[in-house]
Amino acid sequence: MNTFYELWQTRTPSEARSKIESQRFLGEPSNLEEQALSLVGKDIYETLIKDYTRKQWGKDPRDLPAFIIKRLPLRFTYNNNYFSDRYQGIPIGGYTALFETMLQGIEVRLNIDFLDARSELSRLARKVVYTGCIDQYFDYDLGHLDYRSLDFENEVVETDNFQGNAVINYCDSREAFTRIIEHKHFEASASEVTVITREYPRPCTPEAIPYYPINDLHNQSLYRQYQERGRAMPNVIFGGRLSEYKYMDMHVVIESAMNRFRSEVRSEERQHSA
Ligand SMILES: Cc1cc2nc3c(=O)[nH]c(=O)nc-3n(C[C@H](O)[C@H](O)[C@H](O)COP(=O)(O)OP(=O)(O)OC[C@H]3O[C@@H](n4cnc5c(N)ncnc54)[C@H](O)[C@@H]3O)c2cc1C
Repeated sequence: MNTFYELWQTRTPSEARSKIESQRFLGEPSNLEEQALSLVGKDIYETLIKDYTRKQWGKDPRDLPAFIIKRLPLRFTYNNNYFSDRYQGIPIGGYTALFETMLQGIEVRLNIDFLDARSELSRLARKVVYTGCIDQYFDYDLGHLDYRSLDFENEVVETDNFQGNAVINYCDSREAFTRIIEHKHFEASASEVTVITREYPRPCTPEAIPYYPINDLHNQSLYRQYQERGRAMPNVIFGGRLSEYKYMDMHVVIESAMNRFRSEVRSEERQHSA
């Protein structure tokens, strides 16, 4: 509602809804632009989505397929949180601290590419959880899955508070970056200076880190072929954002890992009782 007020000075949910309704594209969407226009109307699309999409994906929204966005959640309350979840937060000390505690007493080997040592490492356990790129696991022999990557630009700024929030998105074309992270706000750290990171989307060339799967028909079909091959390997669990070729937020990937763990335990129990 705060955003709607800034755009149109509407004060009530019904005023904002009417404004959106009056601007919606009513035909059958044939590309991402028309899909977004049909979901949220012209002003929101042009202010928040058009240039951001172009920066994020390096393509004009008219050249992207409509199915990429099925819904664009709109919230008709004055709650300014990005997410609507009842509980929101990150572990105290961050995820590194969480994993360090979880891994206490467990042998960890770092800086080893699993694929370079796969036969030796696979002998250590009955099952392997593989969280790398599924196409890389199969030596790309059906082709490469496409990704977008990011360049991160870090800066120490001589102020105790740069932007007043952990994340601010930059939705228009004036800046090449899509957002600025100000890390201290994740934990309300007290310090005289602050560290910020600007995120610049970029193509995922071989030396870049794969971040966002490009979910077009070609890549979806290629992923399904790799997925089939993965399913034929009962001793390898392909899990996580790179193995499942899917963007997942932290809570989604944690839930997915816990569900997978439970189903593995159940299947082990069934085998023992048979
Ligand atoms: C740019 C970006 C911003 C994000 N922001 C948020 C956010 O604000 N909130 C949120 O909830 N989620 C966010 N996420 C999502 C979150 O990062 C993921 O959900 C989470 O990291 C997925 O965990 P994962 O284990 O599947 O993959 P990863 O965290 O990527 O872990 C996979 C691991 O496998 C290792 N690996 C890969 N291949 C090999 C190999 N051959 N040998 C050995 N190791 C290998 C990698 O080094 C990596 O450590 C963001 C993701 C990205 C890309």
